[in-house]
Amino acid sequence: MIEFHAKDLQQIVVPIRFTRAITGFSRRSAPEVDDRGFAMGTRPPGWSSTTAYGPMVGLMVNSEMRIKVEREDIDAEAPLYVTCTEPSVLRIVAPTDGGPLPDDGVLTVRGLTARGSPGRIEVRLGSTIGPILGRLEPHVFGAYRIPVQAHRVRCDTATATGIRPNLPVERILRRVRAIWWPCGIHVVYDAASRPVIDTDVVRVATLNQVNLGSGAEVASVFGLQRARLGLPAGTNDQAVNWYIIPRFTNANTVGLGRSRVRANSVGTDTGVITTADGVTNDTEIERVARTLAHEIGHFLRLPHVQQRNADNPVRDTFGRRQLMYPISWLENAVGGAGLLTVPRTNNVGYGHTVRGCLITMKNHAHHSTDGECGTARSTYRSGAWY
Ligand SMILES: [Zn+2]
Repeated sequence: MIEFHAKDLQQIVVPIRFTRAITGFSRRSAPEVDDRGFAMGTRPPGWSSTTAYGPMVGLMVNSEMRIKVEREDIDAEAPLYVTCTEPSVLRIVAPTDGGPLPDDGVLTVRGLTARGSPGRIEVRLGSTIGPILGRLEPHVFGAYRIPVQAHRVRCDTATATGIRPNLPVERILRRVRAIWWPCGIHVVYDAASRPVIDTDVVRVATLNQVNLGSGAEVASVFGLQRARLGLPAGTNDQAVNWYIIPRFTNANTVGLGRSRVRANSVGTDTGVITTADGVTNDTEIERVARTLAHEIGHFLRLPHVQQRNADNPVRDTFGRRQLMYPISWLENAVGGAGLLTVPRTNNVGYGHTVRGCLITMKNHAHHSTDGECGTARSTYRSGAWY
């Protein structure tokens, strides 16, 4: 039963909501749903808009994606149907003929073209012409490709040979791809044209360790791709070079990214460095993928959520769901130390105390770094990411 109190001129009752079709680590077929309020915010130039009030979701063209309808204030037995207002642009693949939705509430859609408005996805009561219970605004994107070039980097001293580190590169990149997929950004790992580079060596002071305090050591890692190809300084590789090292001298640091803006200001090449030390289980593999996806966000000129870094992150749950939240692991809400980082909820849908992978679709006026998908795509188009 729904109980509500009408006030002002009108009240919209939405007894359902839309969520990711899964919980836990990202999957390509189960996009994040930007459900931050019913207001839609502004849309970047070129995006379609609808009269929907509700969440927004991004879809890769020609790709089936699953979204879950969660029943909030409606009986589990009430038959729900799904329709789309522009079936030539977006097709409801499942449930067949629009419904009824199965018990798990998951529907499957396919964006047929990135041109034209995909209209609204609507959930209706009783039949495909029944009353509308909730609406979702989809955006279908054509694919922008970002190649990733992985390097396994040996760190030698003047007298000793280091150990070449190893990570399950393909498995990690599949997860990175899943995170960016709903934005129409295809993180490409192509073993044929860009096999993992297994010949890079840097000279370091401490065996198997890169010293973050040494600008020269860090710069030599970021310069490996260019050095390997014998290219002069200032040559930009149109790829994200991902350097896997054994570890940093400070073992607490597990990743470092350098986007074009930063690389220009400090006079190095771009790239991402992550450590292989201790990456032996699925959780750590996911953490590396999340880090790499986050750094690709910086390449695409996304700042940290609300421009607030790890020493002063936002405290709201939505912020913790964002890929660009500056901290990868969240502290436990119960009895956690450090008031700045204690979350209101422990789990934002990706597992206990892990930040999420939401790349925001909506652009809310009060959020200083919002509209991330639009920003990332316009950065890509401008060529300013590499
Ligand atoms: Zn960051």
